[in-house]
Amino acid sequence: MKDTYFLPLGGTGEIGMNLNLYGYGESDNADWIMVDCGVTFSQSGLPGIDLQMPDPTFIASQKENLKGVILTHAHEDHIGAMPFIWPYFDCPIYTTQFTATLLIEKFNEHNIDYENKLKILSEGDIIKISSFEIMAIGLTHSIPEMNALLIKTPSANIFHTGDWKIDNDPLVGDGFNSKDLLNFNDLKIDTMVCDSTNAIVPGRSGSELEVKESLDKIIGEIDGRIFISTFASNVARLYSIAESAAKHDRHVVLSGRGMHRIVNAAKSVGILKGLPEFVDEEDAGYLPAEKTLILCTGSQGEYRAALSKIARDQHQHIVAEKGDTVIFSSKIIPGNESGILNLQNLFAKKGVNIITGKDEFIHVSGHPCQDELLEMFSLIKPTSIIPVHGEFRHLTANASLAEANGIKKSLVIENGTMVKVSKNDIVIETEVENGRLYKDGKIIVYDYESPSNERSKLSQTGLIIVSLVLVNNKIKGKPVIKTFGIPEFDKDGIRFDDWVMQALNNVLGSKNKGGNLESKIRNSIVRQIKSIWGKKPKVEIIFN
Ligand SMILES: [Zn+2]
Ligand SMILES: [Zn+2]
Repeated sequence: MKDTYFLPLGGTGEIGMNLNLYGYGESDNADWIMVDCGVTFSQSGLPGIDLQMPDPTFIASQKENLKGVILTHAHEDHIGAMPFIWPYFDCPIYTTQFTATLLIEKFNEHNIDYENKLKILSEGDIIKISSFEIMAIGLTHSIPEMNALLIKTPSANIFHTGDWKIDNDPLVGDGFNSKDLLNFNDLKIDTMVCDSTNAIVPGRSGSELEVKESLDKIIGEIDGRIFISTFASNVARLYSIAESAAKHDRHVVLSGRGMHRIVNAAKSVGILKGLPEFVDEEDAGYLPAEKTLILCTGSQGEYRAALSKIARDQHQHIVAEKGDTVIFSSKIIPGNESGILNLQNLFAKKGVNIITGKDEFIHVSGHPCQDELLEMFSLIKPTSIIPVHGEFRHLTANASLAEANGIKKSLVIENGTMVKVSKNDIVIETEVENGRLYKDGKIIVYDYESPSNERSKLSQTGLIIVSLVLVNNKIKGKPVIKTFGIPEFDKDGIRFDDWVMQALNNVLGSKNKGGNLESKIRNSIVRQIKSIWGKKPKVEIIFN
């Protein structure tokens, strides 16, 4: 018997790296579609790992069954893994023009041939892939052209919300349109797979128009140079800031690759029309401070981003001076706190004024708070809900909110849980293999085989390498001892190298010559160093 399945491989139980699968057929032999294929930016704990993404082994092991990828919008947590995962499948990709523009840029960067595979989708389009009929429904979010998906199979109707909020004045694109959604009531939605990011936040997320009005007031009152850092992908915010700059007789300078990339993508689809031209970074130095507004990347304190370079006086063309103002028109993504505070300290040291969300109303979230979730529940009236796009505290809050407001059933699941969706019910079918892929420099590795754990250990305890020649169990010549990340002297001024030598001689001078000499030497050195340092370094012995 054929059934409909939902299976998240990323983004459920975490915020980031979204990858959702929908299947129709038998649980072990179904046709699948993939909705989104995103990354998570590595924060702490994994040295040298640039990006993390979902492990697609479940679907990769049956790649002929993946019939297409649909991308809801262009945020990195939804499209960032495409250059690394999609080439293996080489199936059709469906997305809007704006998202496609940013995707193509990624594919070009990685020399990926996508010819004839990319199908451009517009709001309201209905596409048929295998037994799936999918309709794209425009919803407001913090990036242009975000589409929810109405996914119909012969056995179920699913509303996949994607990332959304209710914004009646999004400034870019159409406002939230509840009328379109009301039409689905006749259809009966069996389950809603729903964004949970702000499910613990009461009230509403607020509108871009309100942010615009507040920012405009702030910009009008500042004298010196203004730096504004925001998420580059928030085109509406860029638009608001650029309009306000023009009104207050300031030229807008774009700084940072992310800013240029988004502005180009927006212009290519006709967004950001009617604004004065942006000034190139190279020309920023010629503008008087009071006529300058610099839009830059780096709101999360990223070391290599424009704002950090400016703070460190390492930007080629742009300087910040006493009396200038930096506005952080963004939220702090958990994990980035110390980087952001360091950055703010650098500006404070220069006498630059700092305005953050704590001081003024300068940012709204792109995700629904509780009142918006309630409004969506009553518009869509799903029989059940599967919360996604959140950590467990967000997922459970979304589920409780739904059940307290008339939705019959909710399932809080995690990555790798396959759910059977039928007309009246959602039930857990099985668990499948899941995990993460790490981008380590130019190489992609499975989490379980990543050398980052070893790097992490080395960073705590260092490494000692001993290279020696043994003849008849006696050292010939002088052993070479190299240490990395080990202190040079103990508290009495004795060199660590001498302690290593002593540990070596203890083993070679001992009467008991049996057993594995290499491990005896290693254990002796580890013991010796631990007794004087209190830490166990990694020790490697090389016999020549
Ligand atoms: Zn997202
Ligand atoms: Zn998003």
